[in-house]
Amino acid sequence: MLEIQGIETFYGETQALFGVDLSVGKGEAVALLGPNGAGKTTVLRSILGLTPARRGAIRFGGSEITRAATSDIARAGIGWVPDDRRIFPALKVRTNLQLGKKKTAFRSWSEKEVFGLFPALEYLLDRDSENLSGGEMQMVAIGRALLGGPGLVLLDEPSQGLAPKLVQDVMKTIARLRDEGIGVLVVEQNVRSALAVCDRAYVIRGGRVVRHGPAKALLEDARLLGELS
Ligand code: ATP
Repeated sequence: MLEIQGIETFYGETQALFGVDLSVGKGEAVALLGPNGAGKTTVLRSILGLTPARRGAIRFGGSEITRAATSDIARAGIGWVPDDRRIFPALKVRTNLQLGKKKTAFRSWSEKEVFGLFPALEYLLDRDSENLSGGEMQMVAIGRALLGGPGLVLLDEPSQGLAPKLVQDVMKTIARLRDEGIGVLVVEQNVRSALAVCDRAYVIRGGRVVRHGPAKALLEDARLLGELS
């Protein structure tokens, strides 16, 4: 579904990614791990066209999107759950969710289906978004992405700042999306939790992929877990 080949991405003259290869299949959950400043967010920004790759290629569903406009990439069916969630604080939850609605080539989720995933969300619809807790904001951000009919969802540190119980809820949500046939690429600091739920993982360091493989195998590598924790 997503295929990245040898991308090199820069911020001005500063090179952040050096020939990154990565793929995500249909209905596959993939973790992107690594220390601070490794380039994880830059991979997501490159896919979304926010900081387009200068070299290399990114294909989604067989079409090249390397230098496509972010709005076209979104319409192609790539959903984004940013690390700061980007919920409009002055708007009601209902409006924040509605802003995510669009038609793509993939299955669009109805509001009812989103409430099936996050029952609490239905009771928050008329709340001002500025009063939401971190966990509630995360539900709105994921719900908004699903209403946009994604074939692939990019999640940037979705469990950041959440209580341990909510971290597990986020992991269950990732498993659910995968089971629905949606591809998931998740940047996570909760390495063990992410590896426990994902199918495969990539470890990135200094803008390069230094390890990749089945999540199960990486979970058994105590040294790697020690380095990333
Ligand atoms: P973290 O876990 O801390 O978010 P990360 O792995 O997501 O880290 P990136 O945010 O992708 O890492 O950063 C990769 C490199 O690019 C770092 O050296 C960072 O300083 C640099 N960088 C990121 N954003 C910018 C920017 N807007 N301008 C210049 N350099 C940047």
